[in-house]
Amino acid sequence: MAYVYDDQNIFARILRGEIPNKTVRETAHTLAFHDIHPQAPVHVLVIPKGAYVNFDHFAAEASADEIADLTRTAGDICRELGVASDIGEGYRVISNAGKHGMQEVPHYHLHILGGRVMGRLVERLD
Ligand code: 5GP
Repeated sequence: MAYVYDDQNIFARILRGEIPNKTVRETAHTLAFHDIHPQAPVHVLVIPKGAYVNFDHFAAEASADEIADLTRTAGDICRELGVASDIGEGYRVISNAGKHGMQEVPHYHLHILGGRVMGRLVERLD
């Protein structure tokens, strides 16, 4: 089944400049900005500029340049915001996908969360 990208999703609109954002860093292929409802003292979203729905779509179809750029940009932000493990107390990177991942915005993004202890990796529902 092919990936279907909704170009009216909120991050597509941010990329087109239709909605403002608090940019942390912008590169040729990547935009990083503060989450509008931060769940931790550091909560930055890192997104590709290309139209990818989620991690598996990005991993399958993005170019090596896009993948390297997003990964390197996310790492640079961890250092810039003081949470990288060589200079700070660490962080968590999360990417939700689809229904079970409880993804809200259907444009691939990483969450970088830091500045506090994150707790357990996943909530137990049983
Ligand atoms: P998801 O659940 O898809 O992994 O996460 C989507 C994230 O996008 C949420 O943490 C939510 O707070 C954030 N978000 C939703 N709309 C906006 C917006 O208009 N601007 C910004 N900066 N973040 C948003």
